Amino acid sequence: MDYSKETIKMAQYIAETCTSCKRCMKDCLFLQQYCEDPQRLFQRFLEEDLEPIIPYSCMLCGHCTVVCPLKLKLDDAFLSMRQDLIKEGLPLRQLRGVEMHQKLSTSKLFTAVNRGEAK
Ligand code: SF4
Ligand code: SF4
Repeated sequence: MDYSKETIKMAQYIAETCTSCKRCMKDCLFLQQYCEDPQRLFQRFLEEDLEPIIPYSCMLCGHCTVVCPLKLKLDDAFLSMRQDLIKEGLPLRQLRGVEMHQKLSTSKLFTAVNRGEAK
């Protein structure tokens, strides 16, 4: 996967600057699930890429930046990765299940309609 210079620059900055204090991880279930700490996650991205499900699982809420002593913008880096993935037209195989769920859950076959009739 060819990431843009901007994405690589952001990832390098986080990998080089993050002190692994883990303050950002306290309230972030996404980071807790996918990494030991952001520094190692971004190092891994630079060394061997990440599964697309990882940047797509960040909620882009910005809470990590608020609590980070260095105000590192993890969300900007994940968003930039996502934009690069989309440009490459990479299908999100991991999210196909979600797409299928949305199709089925709104289909007539699986939709129960409450007509307000008395029981
Ligand atoms: S922006 Fe992403 S990494 Fe940061 S706290 Fe929100 S979900 Fe976690
Ligand atoms: S709060 Fe900032 S410095 Fe601490 S682990 Fe998170 S990104 Fe790194």
